Amino acid sequence: MAYHSPECSMPTHTTNGAAAVSAQAAVARTPGQPFKIEDVTVAAPRHDEIRVRMVGAGICHTDLVCRDGFPVPMPIVLGHEGAGTVEAVGRR
Ligand SMILES: [Zn+2]
Repeated sequence: MAYHSPECSMPTHTTNGAAAVSAQAAVARTPGQPFKIEDVTVAAPRHDEIRVRMVGAGICHTDLVCRDGFPVPMPIVLGHEGAGTVEAVGRR
């Protein structure tokens, strides 16, 4: 799932006609600090991506390790264990 924060310069549209959508996400901005629920823009899927409308997501140990200092770019939306409905697909 593509995510970008307001300070990210990723494009908001792709050639498949899907548009960016608004959502809320648990965002990690600083290592070791609590997640913050924020309004975010979810980019349209690129050619090799899909976008899933999540109905539930867990935060696992790996997510907490990343939030607490594993070298990942921040800000970041974690929570890779979820379920939902595919609502847009890239070209491939
Ligand atoms: Zn996990």
